[in-house]
This record gives sequence, C-alpha cells and structure tokens, in this order.
Amino acid sequence: MGAPRPEIRARLDSLQQALEDTSGRQAGYPANLVYDYSALTPFLRYSLNNIGDPFHESNYQVNTRDIEREVVAAFADLVRLPREEAWGYVTSGGTEGNMYGLYLARKLHPDGIVYFSQDTHYSVLKNLSVLNMRNIMIKSQQNGELDYDDLYETVRIHRDTPVIVMANIGTTMTGAIDDLVRVQAIFEDLAITNHYIHADAALSGLILPFVDDPQPYGFDAGIDSISLSGHKVIGAPLPCGVVLTKRDYVNTVARSVEYLGTLDTTVPGSRSGFTPLILWYALEHYGHEGLRGLVGNMLDMAAYAVERFNERGIPAWRNRNSVTVVFPRPPDEVVQAWQLAPLGDIAHVITMPHVTRAMVDEIVDACAKQRLHGNMRGLR
Ligand SMILES: *Cc1c(COP(=O)(O)O)cnc(C)c1O
Repeated sequence: MGAPRPEIRARLDSLQQALEDTSGRQAGYPANLVYDYSALTPFLRYSLNNIGDPFHESNYQVNTRDIEREVVAAFADLVRLPREEAWGYVTSGGTEGNMYGLYLARKLHPDGIVYFSQDTHYSVLKNLSVLNMRNIMIKSQQNGELDYDDLYETVRIHRDTPVIVMANIGTTMTGAIDDLVRVQAIFEDLAITNHYIHADAALSGLILPFVDDPQPYGFDAGIDSISLSGHKVIGAPLPCGVVLTKRDYVNTVARSVEYLGTLDTTVPGSRSGFTPLILWYALEHYGHEGLRGLVGNMLDMAAYAVERFNERGIPAWRNRNSVTVVFPRPPDEVVQAWQLAPLGDIAHVITMPHVTRAMVDEIVDACAKQRLHGNMRGLR
C-alpha cells in the first residue's frame, strides 16, 4: 500500500496521541497495559488463519496451529487438566469461551437448566439468550459470591433436571470466587448425577495458579470447562482468550458434525492466528516464575490500595486473592478521570501491572477530597 498520504498520517498521529493519553489513566478495567510485542510485528504481513479445530490439520497452511496447541497445553497445566485429556482453542475473549462452555453443556445435557448468580458477567445472559437455554438466576451474597442456600433450594425444586452451573472464578465487580466444593456438595446432597460446571475465570484464572493458597478453581476441583481472557492478566493489543475442556466431551460434538464432512468444533470459522502467537510469546517470555512475580506484585498493589483507602476513612475491601479493590462510588468526575468501573453504589480499582502506587495515591486522594467536600456541604 506504500506510505500513507499526509492526511491519513495526520489522522493516525492524532489517534495515537489520544490513545497514549487515555492509556495512562486507566485504573478500573482488568487489562494489563504493560507489554512489548514488537518482535511479532513482522507477522502482521501474513494472513494467519487458524480456521477450525486446532488439533486437526487444515488445508489453509498459513497458520499458527502448532503454536496454538502449545498455548492450549500451557493453559491446561495452569488449570490442572492433564494435557492428554485437554482440548481447547484460542478464542476472541472471555465471552466466546463462556459461550463455548454453555454450548458444550447443552450438547451433553440438552434439557439442563443453567444456574448462575446475580453477579455473573453480562456475557452469560446474552449467551443464554443466543443458545436459548433454560436458566435461573441465583442470589449473590454481599461479597459477590453465590448464595449457596438459594442454589440448594432452587436445584432441589428441579431435581429431575440436569444441573449446569456457571461458576464465577472472579466476578467482574468484586472478584468473588464461587466455592466449587460447596456447589458439588449440593449435587451430592440432592443426588444429582447429571451435572456440568463451567468456570468463568476471565481474570482470576490467571491469578489463582500463581498464589500460595488458591481457592479451588481448576479441573482437579470438578469443573468441566473453563474460559479465560488473554488480554486481561497477560495483556494483549488484540482481545483474546482461551477455552479449555475435556477432549472426550468435544468428540461428542465433533462426531455429529463430522457427518457433514468437517471437523467444525469451534464457534467461529476463521480464527485469528495472530492472537495465539501473542499468548505464546508472553508465556515464553514470562515463564511460570515471571507470571508468579507479576501476579504477586498486582496483589501487593491491591493490598496497598485497600490500606490507603482505609487510612483516609474510606471503607474499601477486596475478596481473598483478588486484585479488585471495591469502594463506595465516588462522584462522576473521579470515575471519568480514572476510567473506574461503577455499578450502583460501588466502584472498583483493579490493580493491573500498569497501576502504580502514585496512581493509587492520586485516586485515593481524589475520592477522599470529594467525600470531605460532600460531608461539608452536607453540614451546611
Ligand atoms: C472480562 C470478563 C468476561 C468477558 O471477557 P471478554 O474477554 O471481555 O469477552 C467474562 N467474565 C468475567 C468475569 C469477566 O471479568
């Protein structure tokens, strides 16, 4: 295409400046903005496409399928799924991974009811509507975790129907982790034999493997599939994620379509061959120890933020092993200035690697000043 014309260049320059500005004041969304993938720039010259099942060859040879399989294997280790039993692919993000889990659950339990908490990510309701699956919303506790009593009672009423639980491994607003042991105790108590657990682990799925005392989150804790985001903890210039499940389950899905002459096991047809490369590069670059360090620093920063807020009399808190710091919703100008994610009367800061102590101090300061201001106005 050659060099861009001056007016195109000018437009790109102003866009880039705007993006530089907004990237520096982003504290409410769970995306790691610190990375350097410039070594991958040459690969933008190829029309990489991993169409179809990553574990089967394709006629389209400009692909990164072997790299993708390595990414799936590395993620399988993290979520405690033996590699030889693992199947998965690199998705466009957490939403697609959640859709895949529900799609599979429906293939295995066509009459199942999906149970999910009030704090579940909005992608789940949308996916349920797309898939037209019967579903029931369960109450949440104050910290964002499932209300197990409500789950028990609701499942009890529908004991004759397969149970599909959408478990949150880190809710969006408060980083709460649903207790997989308690969920399975409910299956046991009610003698439910047809059940399926999908874990929505968009953010915390890459935190828990690297902490000393994780809540149960993986296949060793009874899940059947899991969705993780790639652009959150790892950080990526293109949204992406990984979905993992057991190979046996996918064979059931695959067989029915193989009949039509293809092995069409993924949700999309054409899939990015570039995002697997990004994830592979990051995993190779960091290694387990590097990721452990990254996650440790994020958790330390979250602890620091809670302390600073509390020192100023603001009742901030976080769930265990979470980098999501929750506090009373500040006025809109503070929300805007730091791109905080508000919901009702709360807001949060997520201490991703680009969130520094200086940023935390500034945010706490802004919230404290506004509170003081608000209180004084109230007194007059
Ligand atoms: C971010 C998030 C998602 C959606 O992930 P996308 O990659 O944005 O599609 C799903 N669930 C939870 C809990 C999330 O935090």
